[in-house]
Amino acid sequence: MASLTDLAGIGRDTRRGGYSRHGFDRAELDLREWFTAEATRRDLDTETDRNGNLWAWWGRPGPDAVITGSHLDSVPGGGAFDGPLGVVSALQAVDSLRAKGFTPSKPFAIVVFAEEEGGRFGVACLGSRLMTGSIRPETALRLTDSGGVTLAEAVTAAGLDPTRFGRDDEALSRIGCFVELHVEQGKGLAVPVGVASSIMAHGRWRFTFTGQGNHAGTTLIADRRDPMLPASQLVLAARRAAVGDARATVGRIVPNPGGTNVIASTVDVWVDARAAEGARELVEQISEDAWRAAEEEGCELVVREESYGDTVHFDTALRDDLAGVLGGVPALPTGAGHDAGILAARVPTAMLFVRNPTGISHAPEEYAEPADCEAGAVALTAVLEHLAR
Ligand SMILES: [Zn+2]
Repeated sequence: MASLTDLAGIGRDTRRGGYSRHGFDRAELDLREWFTAEATRRDLDTETDRNGNLWAWWGRPGPDAVITGSHLDSVPGGGAFDGPLGVVSALQAVDSLRAKGFTPSKPFAIVVFAEEEGGRFGVACLGSRLMTGSIRPETALRLTDSGGVTLAEAVTAAGLDPTRFGRDDEALSRIGCFVELHVEQGKGLAVPVGVASSIMAHGRWRFTFTGQGNHAGTTLIADRRDPMLPASQLVLAARRAAVGDARATVGRIVPNPGGTNVIASTVDVWVDARAAEGARELVEQISEDAWRAAEEEGCELVVREESYGDTVHFDTALRDDLAGVLGGVPALPTGAGHDAGILAARVPTAMLFVRNPTGISHAPEEYAEPADCEAGAVALTAVLEHLAR
């Protein structure tokens, strides 16, 4: 049986702890190789689609297919479960269905989406967004990683043809429904398995403050235009604005040039904002405080929306159907984005969640009990059997 321990050695991050596996980097390519070998061992036919998503078909590809899967990439210093649990559980489900003598009467495939976390190129769910056409290929291919490598260059190095990137109606038209199993990422589940009801509206914004780089020792305080000042106000404004269920986070600040004895000339600050409805309004509010703080320090500010996804409500009929198959498990909303959320706009889509006892995710301490992971794989097996019969 496939197991998460098979992947334990791939993409370890010795500096941050946990794993750093990003779209088309060495670790993620090694994981793709692992997946391809596992699929081949099961006589599944693998193919990489135009946008670098990996598919493994049980039987012939075709319309009205039952699709399950997740992603293998991680955030920087991420946990072992976010993504790989859904892929490993899908392989386990195929094994269990075969052991029962079940053969799907519908086309059936496992999919591994590319760069779900946006850990390398900054846009989450890149593979599924490209496939569904929710990001333009020319925009995506120009994205750069921290080393200045463009997505176009990275996929070319991985043996893909960037000129073929973009909305893939052929791949989409085959999907009858998509079910993604994923570790739950809050503390939302008191039982081993649940289904998703909705995903919060979610976006990423980049704030660039520009001041005047200068000497930390000789520049009088009164003469400074230090972009770090409004940047720090932005961090506080994000916290102030996030009331109720809304969430706003600054997890990344990059001062340029970044010297201890240097007043920065520019500072880039990324804001991740989420809300049940209206994450853009939340950021407008945060931006007002940032503009004011920039003005007070004599700095300029440019705000760019790097990605945005509206609130996702999963297909109610499919959700209720699956909850019923699983004996009435709870349905819960989530603040975490997923490829399933991108696909939900185009095809009937559902998610199964596996309990996360600590609520820690996107960190090395992310955890799920082995018994709960097994319950998740059993639930996924039951759901796929129900859908593909
Ligand atoms: Zn994930």
